[in-house]
Amino acid sequence: MNTTGTGTRKVESTCGNDPAAWPCGDPEACTGCGACAAICPRGCIVMQPRDDGFLYPTAERHACTDCGRCRQVCPVASRESPPHPVAGEARGGTLPSVFAAWHLDESIRRDSSSGGVFSALAENVLARNGAVVGAAFDDQLTVRHILIEVPEDLPRLRGSKYVQSEVTPVLYRRLQDQLRQGRPVLFSGTPCQVAAVRGFLGKSYDTLFCCDLLCHGVPSPLMFRHYVSYLNEVHGHVRTLYFRDKRKGWKHYGMCRHLTNGCVEWFGQQTDPYLLAFLRDYSLRESCYRCAFANVVRGGDLTLADFWGVAKRYPQYDRDDHGTSLVLANTEKGKTWLEKCRQRLFLGIADLDTAIAGNPVLARSCPRPAERDSFYRDLRSLPFAALIHTYRLHRPTRFRRFAGEAKRRLRSVLSWLGGRSVSGGK
Ligand SMILES: Cc1cc2nc3c(=O)[nH]c(=O)nc-3n(C[C@H](O)[C@H](O)[C@H](O)COP(=O)(O)OP(=O)(O)OC[C@H]3O[C@@H](n4cnc5c(N)ncnc54)[C@H](O)[C@@H]3O)c2cc1C
Repeated sequence: MNTTGTGTRKVESTCGNDPAAWPCGDPEACTGCGACAAICPRGCIVMQPRDDGFLYPTAERHACTDCGRCRQVCPVASRESPPHPVAGEARGGTLPSVFAAWHLDESIRRDSSSGGVFSALAENVLARNGAVVGAAFDDQLTVRHILIEVPEDLPRLRGSKYVQSEVTPVLYRRLQDQLRQGRPVLFSGTPCQVAAVRGFLGKSYDTLFCCDLLCHGVPSPLMFRHYVSYLNEVHGHVRTLYFRDKRKGWKHYGMCRHLTNGCVEWFGQQTDPYLLAFLRDYSLRESCYRCAFANVVRGGDLTLADFWGVAKRYPQYDRDDHGTSLVLANTEKGKTWLEKCRQRLFLGIADLDTAIAGNPVLARSCPRPAERDSFYRDLRSLPFAALIHTYRLHRPTRFRRFAGEAKRRLRSVLSWLGGRSVSGGK
C-alpha cells in the first residue's frame, strides 16, 4: 500500500491496492468532495492532493473503527442506480421545468458567467437573514467554498472559477450548524458537491436550498497554480483572474487577468492556454469523464447553466449577447424559490430538448480525450511554456486557421452537393 507522510503523522491511502477500502469503492470514481473526511467521527480521514493535484481521502487506518459512515455519505457509493439519461422519455413526471433567465440588474449580469441567476437566488436568501455557501478565491488565489452572510460579500462568490473548489470539514459543519439554528442556507456547487452536502446532512431541512451547476468537469488546483506561476514569470504578477469576462460578449468570453502592476490582459477561449486545456477537457478530474451526475435528474432544487444555443429556438432570449442562464427547476421547493426571485429576474419558458442540444453534458459525461493520459505527467515534468507548445494550447497559426476554415467550407460544399444529388435522385 502507498504511504504518504503529513508532517510527523503517517497516513495511508484509503484505497491502497484494495478498491473495496475506498468509501466509493473505486478511487477513479472519487469526486474529492470531502464528505467522508467531514463525517468521520474519529477524524481519521484527511483530504490530500495526489500527483495530479486533485484531493483524495487518506486515512489513518489504525484509528478507523470501520463504522461505515464514510461510505454512507459518499455521493458515489451511496448512489443507488444511475437515473434515466435521456430527456423526453416518461420518467414519472420528474422532468424539470426549463427557463431562460437573466438578472435584471445589468451590472450584475455583466459580472456573472451566464445570466446572473445565482446572484438573484443569493440575494433572496440573504434578505431572509440566511447564509450563502459558494466558491471564492482567497488572497493566495486558492479556490474554496466559503459561507457569507451579507450582500457585500456576494461579489466574492459571483463568477465561475474553473478550478476544483475545496469544501473543508469545517465548512460542512458550519453549514449544518446554520441549518440546525433554523436559518435559510443556499448551497451552490457542482452536482457532486451538492450530493455530498445532502449526504453529509443525512436528513432534509426545509430551510436548505441547493443549487447545482451544470458542470462538464473541474481542472486541478495544481494545473491552476502552474498557470498562475507561468503568468507571474512571463506576464507580471497576477492579482486576480476572471474566467468569464464578457467584454467581447457572452458567447466570446475570455480570461481576464488583473496584474499587480495595474495592467489588465484579456485572452479569448482560443488564446488562453488554461481555458483551452479546460475546454478541450485535457485537465479534468478522472471522475468527471464518467460523472454519475451528468443527467437531467438533478440533485439541486435548481440547476444553473449557460443556455448555449438558445437563440436557435428562442431568438428573443438572446438579443444582446449579455448572457442567458439556463435554469432547471427540479423540485417544488426550487419552483417556489424561483417564483420568489421574480422581481429580480427575467424568466422565459423554454424546453429541455433545446437545453440538451446546446449543453450535451446535461445528458452524459464529456468524453475523455487521448491527451488526458499524458497531460498531468507532462504538467509536472515540463515547463509550462513547453506544455503550451506540446498540447497546442495557443492561438493556431495563420496557416492553420486558414487550413481549418478551408476544410470547413469544403465540407459544407460537399454536404450541400451530397444533399442535391440525393434530392435529384428522387
Ligand atoms: C467547473 C465548472 C464547469 C462548468 N461547466 C459548465 C458547462 O459545461 N456548461 C454550462 O452551461 N455551464 C457550466 N458551468 C456553469 C456556469 O459556468 C455558471 O457557473 C452557471 O451558469 C451560473 O452562472 P450565473 O451567471 O447564474 O452565476 P455566477 O455568478 O457566474 O456563478 C457563480 C456560482 O458558481 C459557483 N462556482 C464558481 N466556481 C465554482 C467552482 N469551482 N466549484 C463550484 N462552484 C463554483 C459559485 O459558488 C456561485 O454559486 C460550469 C461551472 C463550473 C464552476
